[in-house]
Amino acid sequence: MNVPIKADIVIVGAGMVGSLLAAALKHLPLNIILIDPAVVTLPDVDAPFEPRVSALTRASQNVLTQVGAWELVTQYRHSPFTSMQVREEEGRGELQFKAQDIGEDYLGCLVENRVLQWALTTVAINADNVEFLAPEQLTQLERYPQHWRVTLASGKVIDTPLVVGADGAMSAVRKLSAITMETWDYQQQAIVCTVQTQKPHDSCARQVFLKTGPLAFLPLSKPDYCSIVWSAKDEQAKWLLSLSESDFKQELARAFGYELGEVLWCDQRYAFPLIARHAERYTLDGLALVGDAAHTIHPLAGQGVNLGFLDAAVLAEEIARGMARGLPIAHRQILQKYSLRRRHHNALMMHSMTALERLYAAKQPSLIMLRNEGVGFVNNQTWLKHFFEKQAMGLEGDLPQLAQNCSA
Ligand SMILES: Cc1cc2nc3c(=O)[nH]c(=O)nc-3n(C[C@H](O)[C@H](O)[C@H](O)COP(=O)(O)OP(=O)(O)OC[C@H]3O[C@@H](n4cnc5c(N)ncnc54)[C@H](O)[C@@H]3O)c2cc1C
Repeated sequence: MNVPIKADIVIVGAGMVGSLLAAALKHLPLNIILIDPAVVTLPDVDAPFEPRVSALTRASQNVLTQVGAWELVTQYRHSPFTSMQVREEEGRGELQFKAQDIGEDYLGCLVENRVLQWALTTVAINADNVEFLAPEQLTQLERYPQHWRVTLASGKVIDTPLVVGADGAMSAVRKLSAITMETWDYQQQAIVCTVQTQKPHDSCARQVFLKTGPLAFLPLSKPDYCSIVWSAKDEQAKWLLSLSESDFKQELARAFGYELGEVLWCDQRYAFPLIARHAERYTLDGLALVGDAAHTIHPLAGQGVNLGFLDAAVLAEEIARGMARGLPIAHRQILQKYSLRRRHHNALMMHSMTALERLYAAKQPSLIMLRNEGVGFVNNQTWLKHFFEKQAMGLEGDLPQLAQNCSA
């Protein structure tokens, strides 16, 4: 066996959330190892839009700004949205949220995942206290009385008091540490692709609840380009994927009620199975899960990575606070505090998404009436609309310092 090297923290996974955690810890006197099977590079500025984009809340943008990644994102492509519109295929009501109603310039921002990951990894790699091992991969995890032993595919061995699993939905850290999951299969697939529409999007993020699931048109940085997320039952998704490009464009424009006119062009389609997962616990002795390793959520409110960014920011905050009090880095109080601040919050968001998905999937007349009445009520109550606008910006609740308002 190779002689073990030592690290204060091993972060497994340099996706958006793992890289953010490393970047958020860059000022602390720690020796951090960040591991990923791949290194993300930035594509050409005029490369086609990536099919996977994230609708970032203002809270997430604050975190990215404060760790130094937002300035990198803005050198590339990003698309602030100034309004949001939610409607139902055959409903009477339509909800509209506008940034200007609450004195803001915009509600959130669309950024391609690859750009986010590149910006965050760049900040992490440039930090003096982070060593980036890639291409590399976790293969074994063993618990010793005072530390974890992490074995990598190359045969390298690392001993560390704190392992963080930021390795996504199929987390090896979660599996190897035997943390179980609660799962909820929506039996839906999310079809994503970039489209060009006849009418401009006017920086509005739109979503329609179809009988078969939600369909979102998310505005990109070109005025007539959107990224779509079409959540459809497995059978329908299979059919949508099998359509020719021209049939798919027609079906898409029709499903969206021609709100942005015809769909003129669409890029390759990709499908993601939709499964909500929640780890039964976020921490063990000397171990924590963050991001999709801890939870995956229906994309209908675009919250997944926003929750993951808050996990990483809260964990970094609790580590810094613990260290300031002289606690060892993996002290139980630090990890418990992290779990307490995040698990309940994420569970609430996940259950709300499932409830919303169920409410909109329901066909009973009483529930349809309830939806329409609810939409009408919210639209007529200025205070309630402002409440939802603030929620959409992610600026409510127990926010870590990094997520609080800062000038971008
Ligand atoms: C269709 C769709 C649309 C979405 N839209 C939005 C949106 O608008 N807004 C939003 O907030 N969220 C959205 N999400 C969710 C969001 O994409 C995820 O929450 C986010 O990608 C999770 O980031 P992560 O860093 O936790 O995990 P990942 O992005 O999965 O990263 C995990 C990393 O770990 C690495 N890894 C894996 N295994 C190992 C190993 N054994 N050793 C070392 N490294 C490993 C991987 O290479 C990867 O880099 C959407 C999701 C879907 C499916």
